[in-house]
Amino acid sequence: MKIRFWGVRGSYPVPGAKTVKYGGNTSCTEVDLGNGHRIILDAGTGLIQFGKYLANLNQSFVGTILLSHYHWDHIQGIPFLNQIFDKNSKIKIRGYYGTEANPENVISKQIRKIYCPFEYKDLLAKFEFEPVTEGKTEVEGIKVETIFMNHPGGSISYKFFIGDKIFIYVTDNDISFPEINYFVEAYKKNDSKESGFISKGVEKVLNFIQGADLLIHDSMYLREEANNKKGYGHSCFEDTVDLALKAGVKKLVLFHHDPDHSDEDVDLILQKALEKIKKSSQKMDCLAAREGLEIQIN
Ligand SMILES: [Zn+2]
Ligand SMILES: [Zn+2]
Repeated sequence: MKIRFWGVRGSYPVPGAKTVKYGGNTSCTEVDLGNGHRIILDAGTGLIQFGKYLANLNQSFVGTILLSHYHWDHIQGIPFLNQIFDKNSKIKIRGYYGTEANPENVISKQIRKIYCPFEYKDLLAKFEFEPVTEGKTEVEGIKVETIFMNHPGGSISYKFFIGDKIFIYVTDNDISFPEINYFVEAYKKNDSKESGFISKGVEKVLNFIQGADLLIHDSMYLREEANNKKGYGHSCFEDTVDLALKAGVKKLVLFHHDPDHSDEDVDLILQKALEKIKKSSQKMDCLAAREGLEIQIN
């Protein structure tokens, strides 16, 4: 089973000479299950590259897209995914269900002629939609746990139990300012008690990521940027590293790079993260996500 990164950027795509090394596409990570089925974590513009890769292999897309939430950088690739016009593709899309914020509503409204050259009803792939809420579920035969994270409008994270390995995907999550309450209707609807993520938010994340073999986590800002962008719902990489160390994570992948960060900036963040880990005298691998990076899970 293999993880492939197709888009590692937050907010909006940033093509150009300054982002060649890590890539400029927005969030999209593939879990290739090795049996012809795939799980896609978020559908930013990286999804378009994934679709081209599958088309080159002459394969349909059979699998599940798990959306963390519905901000542009997590859905913008869907209208341009090659396989939406492939009648042999079977695409299940899952995300949390609020009144407006649910995958079927978001995607059917996104794929309209005012935004792109066709309508949702023109698509040929078979689509299926299924809600995700906080708790336990199964995705493509894999046991999965989910919790809501601290982000404006909500965000949901996914923990996969793959054999004896634990892989966790946490994007768009603010652990730097856990006192901020991003509580929204969507949360209330899904779970009245636990999902508020108001107080003890970081402890909740800590419990969730405990002992992960592989953790992908929002590491968008430098400290100063985090302070300037308080309320945007993202984490300072130093806090991400600290939390991962505390949780005994074995491998941490810094993810959702700021669109204003050049390759050199991301290099510097990684270097600082590695220094911090070294100082802690704990053992933890740490990488910065880049397009094309592959990680074998089992
Ligand atoms: Zn994002
Ligand atoms: Zn977001």
